[in-house]
Amino acid sequence: MEKIVSLCKRRGYLFQSSEIYGGIQGFWDYGPLGVELKRNLKDAWWHDMISGHNELVKPESAPRAFEMVGLDSTIIMHPQVWKCSGHYDLFHDHMVDCRESKKRYRFDQIRGRWVEYQDKKVFVTTMAEAEQELDEVRRRGMKFFKLRNKDADKITVGNESLTLDKLDSTENVLAPDAKSLDTLTEPREFNLMFKTTLGALGGEDDTTFLRPETAQGIFVNFKNVLDSSRVGLPFGIGQVGKSFRNEITPRNFTFRSREFEQMEIEFFCHPDQSQEWYRYWRDRRLAWYKELGLSDESLIMREHHQEELAHYSVGTADIEYAFPFLPEGEYGELEGIAHRGDFDLRSHMEGKLDPSTRPMQVELGEDGKPKYRGSGRDLTYRDEATNEKFVPHVVEPSAGADRGALAFLCEAYTEDEAPDENGKMQTRTVMKLHPRLAPIKAAVFPLVKKDGMPEVAHEIYGELKRHMNVFYDEKGAVGRRYRRQDEAGTPYCITVDTDTLTDRTVTIRDRDTLEQTRVKIDDVVADLRTRING
Ligand code: ATP
Repeated sequence: MEKIVSLCKRRGYLFQSSEIYGGIQGFWDYGPLGVELKRNLKDAWWHDMISGHNELVKPESAPRAFEMVGLDSTIIMHPQVWKCSGHYDLFHDHMVDCRESKKRYRFDQIRGRWVEYQDKKVFVTTMAEAEQELDEVRRRGMKFFKLRNKDADKITVGNESLTLDKLDSTENVLAPDAKSLDTLTEPREFNLMFKTTLGALGGEDDTTFLRPETAQGIFVNFKNVLDSSRVGLPFGIGQVGKSFRNEITPRNFTFRSREFEQMEIEFFCHPDQSQEWYRYWRDRRLAWYKELGLSDESLIMREHHQEELAHYSVGTADIEYAFPFLPEGEYGELEGIAHRGDFDLRSHMEGKLDPSTRPMQVELGEDGKPKYRGSGRDLTYRDEATNEKFVPHVVEPSAGADRGALAFLCEAYTEDEAPDENGKMQTRTVMKLHPRLAPIKAAVFPLVKKDGMPEVAHEIYGELKRHMNVFYDEKGAVGRRYRRQDEAGTPYCITVDTDTLTDRTVTIRDRDTLEQTRVKIDDVVADLRTRING
């Protein structure tokens, strides 16, 4: 992981936000290569899910043909949205404070092991990354028992690394930054929504929130979309945009950030068909990651157990990726696909529902009135063919653009061997990104900076620029120029050489196979298009 992080900074994929002021935790900036990668990922999603979707043809595994449309709603919405959605009451994590170090941690993210010395057993914790966890626990355990390095074999460190939520009590716990035991408070709930104030007066009534997900913007516009376009059930509304969560312990590079982007679909269908659509979206979304290059071995689909499910949900599955910062055998969520029933539309219509009731009833406050009043707007759907009126059920595939970009970066990072300009094999670092995702699609090089080669290369570069993001480089040995492009993940390098001057052909070198093919200058655009889009 360290190598990936360092490459990301060195080559301009990712920078820590406000780095010149020491940085700000949980916020990341995308550099010149990173912004292209993330944009390509979002564009691929938008194209494959929304704009490129053909509603006239039934996709192979879909129950039937369907429509897809897009939306771009605001980040700040009416505060009632978050009350009815459940985020106001329920969107929380459990956090603990350390009385000694004054630091705050997410309860389920503190890891540790039992360390035993003589007849005393202490649970030593750390926030270190998985690779350093064991060493760090041992080091802290030795320090706690005041042992020197030569006495290292006098302590026993447990084989199992556990998160704090797996222990019955925190009594014998050495907190991650503490010197004495039992300094952690009981876990407390902490709302993850960022608060902000509207207008100049700023009373309690003016408090609103930065959205923690894009989905609610879709639900509250359900009727607008229905009334303004000719879509009919089943159909999906997709949205890509920023979301904000005041994560207690942002970590693992961009994996858990406080500001991030989501790519979400709310798919509306008849309740009787919702199970089939759930299965369709679950499988389709997994296939999408594979098509763009994530390997079978590093991806899993995890169906939630019955007790993990929200009460109203008949199924939720997470698509998870074996991020290299996680311990062997553990996976991190890339996307969740949830069957949400009619919870959201009904809550926005009638008032926040109590998910533990069957059938779900509006949650009541102490005064016996609805705790959070809904909009009162009719969010039902009338099927024109059958005249049936109902509240549609929803299937929600919800993906993170930053987690996606990180997974593709991790998957792409490869060290292999390639010949240098003298034909000698050298280790090279190459980012094997799918051509659709690669920040730069092709680089154009004149073999040497004379004999009219740069002029021809400029001509090709100018033509290609009209179609895709390309890069021009005439500095240094051509082998070194290839290496730089390999590191940037550029799938194709086009070289103008002596033959070009007589037959107007160039070589196109493939980043992964290293194969070089001669192509007519006039065919370069079409050739690259086919290579990139298949
Ligand atoms: P986690 O359990 O990891 O906090 P979640 O289950 O709360 O995630 P969802 O609410 O289902 O996540 O959000 C949908 C997607 O949004 C996630 O699969 C992930 O890709 C992305 N996402 C959520 N929280 C973050 C975050 N803090 N940083 C980056 N991406 C995030």
